[in-house]
Amino acid sequence: MSKIPNGYEVIQLFEQLAPKHLAMEGDKIGLQIGTLNKPIQTVMIALDVLEEVIDEAIEKDVDLIIAHHPPIFRPLKQVITDEAQGRILEKCMKHDIAIYAAHTNLDIANGGVNDWLAEALGLENVEVLVPTYEDKLKKLVVYVPETHAVAVREALGNAGAGHIGNYSHCTFNSRGIGTFLPQDGANPFIGETGKLEQVEEVRIETIFPASLQKKVISAMLKAHPYEEVAYDVYPLENKGNIFGLGRIGRLKAEMTLEQFAEHVKKALAVKAVRVVGNLNDIVKKVAVIGGDGNKYISHAKFSGADVYVTGDLYYHVAHDAMMMGLNVVDPGHNVEKVMKQGVARYLQEQFAKKKFHTKVYASEVNTDPFTFV
Ligand SMILES: [Zn+2]
Repeated sequence: MSKIPNGYEVIQLFEQLAPKHLAMEGDKIGLQIGTLNKPIQTVMIALDVLEEVIDEAIEKDVDLIIAHHPPIFRPLKQVITDEAQGRILEKCMKHDIAIYAAHTNLDIANGGVNDWLAEALGLENVEVLVPTYEDKLKKLVVYVPETHAVAVREALGNAGAGHIGNYSHCTFNSRGIGTFLPQDGANPFIGETGKLEQVEEVRIETIFPASLQKKVISAMLKAHPYEEVAYDVYPLENKGNIFGLGRIGRLKAEMTLEQFAEHVKKALAVKAVRVVGNLNDIVKKVAVIGGDGNKYISHAKFSGADVYVTGDLYYHVAHDAMMMGLNVVDPGHNVEKVMKQGVARYLQEQFAKKKFHTKVYASEVNTDPFTFV
């Protein structure tokens, strides 16, 4: 049976891709306009929230827009409907359109904007360019009666515990004797009040990323038969999963900077790119940051990239790149439009799994302010 989800259910699925805790400090993300407390029949994905995008949403009867660039970024001082910004808010209110922004969290996410760009450029052995967040690992030890060890292990694994490399559901198990004395008021699963019990138990150990702690512990408690569950959570010194801005990877075959510039135009569907560097240089290792990556030219240089792909390159930053011997290809900020198809594809898959009857559109409005003549 298919169902119409509400906004919270839609965003919960979306945040599995781009959790909020990945966002850079001070970024304006999350629900910005309207409410999630309503049924969502139609979602539209947009890079920028321009008035034309809102008009498209009205025409398509959209309930929720997921946008990459937050429509409200600086403090809003007034809402004047003679201006586009004011009319955007007015139209959203009138037509009950909610806007949710996923900005740097979607850039940083595993399988987010920068991975889509790296994929479009055909990069291999892709790694994070600028680490911003480490999801530390923790260890869980829980004591379970043997009858329920299988169920608890399965619940832990399904909640995301025990992932090591390409293996899931990793645990270690040892048998032992648990003891307990149910006190007055207890409702023991095994034994009776006032009598010291000894039970064959399994000590299950597993690791999990700290970001999943709530989910893992609650799944474990749900599968565990005891009224009071004995478990320990330990912080670990192991290296956690690294998240960050931008990606670095290798082209399948080396090429000249000039050929690479042509490759970028084709791969990211832009009419022109700006290039810093000697067009005859050979490039193989490529760093990429969608949007404005001016701040990270040194990261690109020190990571050993032969060329750095990013948008909005400033004149003086281009000089800096030249002086440090870093080639740059600037295809513009609008290449982040890959997020429209990327998020739409992701949500369609998730909705299909959940049998949610919600349409997903990628906005068709071209929001690139520049024309090349
Ligand atoms: Zn951007």
